[in-house]
Amino acid sequence: KTNTTMKTFEELESAVRSYSRSWPTVFKKAKGYKLWDEDGNEYIDFFAGAGTLNYGHNDEKMQEKIIEYIRNDGIIHSLDMGTPPRKEFLERFNEVILTPRNLDYKIMFPGPTGTNTVESALKIARKVTGRDTVVSFTNAFHGMTIGSLSVTGNSFKRKGAGIPLHHTVSMPFDDYVEDQDSIVYLEKFLEDSGSGVALPAAIILETVQGEGGINASRMEWLKKIESLCKQWDILLIIDDVQAGNGRTGTFFSFEPAGINPDVVCLSKSIGGFGLPMAITLIKPEYDQWGPGEHNGTFRGNNLAFIAATEALSNWETDEFSNTVQEKSILLSRAVEMIIEKYPQLKGEARGRGLMQGIAVDVAGLAEEICAEAFTRGLIIETSGPDDEVVKFLPPLIIDREGLEKGLEILEDSIKHVLA
Ligand code: PMP
Repeated sequence: KTNTTMKTFEELESAVRSYSRSWPTVFKKAKGYKLWDEDGNEYIDFFAGAGTLNYGHNDEKMQEKIIEYIRNDGIIHSLDMGTPPRKEFLERFNEVILTPRNLDYKIMFPGPTGTNTVESALKIARKVTGRDTVVSFTNAFHGMTIGSLSVTGNSFKRKGAGIPLHHTVSMPFDDYVEDQDSIVYLEKFLEDSGSGVALPAAIILETVQGEGGINASRMEWLKKIESLCKQWDILLIIDDVQAGNGRTGTFFSFEPAGINPDVVCLSKSIGGFGLPMAITLIKPEYDQWGPGEHNGTFRGNNLAFIAATEALSNWETDEFSNTVQEKSILLSRAVEMIIEKYPQLKGEARGRGLMQGIAVDVAGLAEEICAEAFTRGLIIETSGPDDEVVKFLPPLIIDREGLEKGLEILEDSIKHVLA
């Protein structure tokens, strides 16, 4: 008979655990862009809780507001009842984000995580169009539930569902094919399917693919996709779960393209503080669900609303977004310098804003660099179908000193691994 109390915590966790394998320690405390483990070791964060901590760890104002709310016996549960935090979030989001950008969306709460907003987007596209196919792109990542996984272009992740998924067509992402503009494949597909076979309900994409290798699409490509969607009466869904919330320098990643997607998915940093929250923005004419048609117990986390509302203060002026853009330039210069100085990496610069990476064309090297960086106090993750990209996703509030210190550790790690 096994004595379960004698098992270590590693043994107790399912084999599927991954981050706790990559970073074999127990993190205990965090502030701003730093974390500390149980033994007091300090780490610089170039990971930001997989993009949930754009505003840094333990922002003091968010802490205060949450503590005050709990002290005053505020409503804690997460159903979609009307509460002051819910009301304030909706009003502030409209005032600070939608109105200044001349955007008109209904805001719906699909459930607590990124995959929930993607599922809701896929469902509404089916309901509105009466069609079931969705076009997604090579190396896309949209989540792990059946619908979002079916539009995720990663064979390893898809195999996690056991048997083939359906109702999805994968097209080459921008720059995926070298010889010609990948849009021609999509145009041809739509012409063929528009002849009466299976016109898709929607096209879903990340403007910068986060998990898929920090592949950044061009603004012209996004504009062409939007016009194809209009031409064929297909919904355009932008999954801004990772690239949104200021990650690429503007609140929505698609702003510089001047497009107006039909549905926008937001999660991760929308909760301000690392708290679970997601929203789906739907053009009013497509908000066609009746009450209760898309339910869920955790669709309104009041603590997340409080942190989320506080986070929106960063968007009252252009200052926050300007500082992100300044730091992005610093990061991209460092990336270029590393690629040039260490030709053994066969490196290629990727990304936009504070969502960047170095694609390393030597098998296993990116993972080795990240593992070495961890032992030196820098948390970085790999990305891409073969974990070939060293990915930089620092909290957006990181200061110049933190960015430079992190880059110094990165360079030392690269030197060590190449030696
Ligand atoms: N979409 C994108 C673009 C993502 O990066 C992620 C998470 N990495 C998801 C959806 C899924 O979010 P979650 O893990 O919260 O379900």
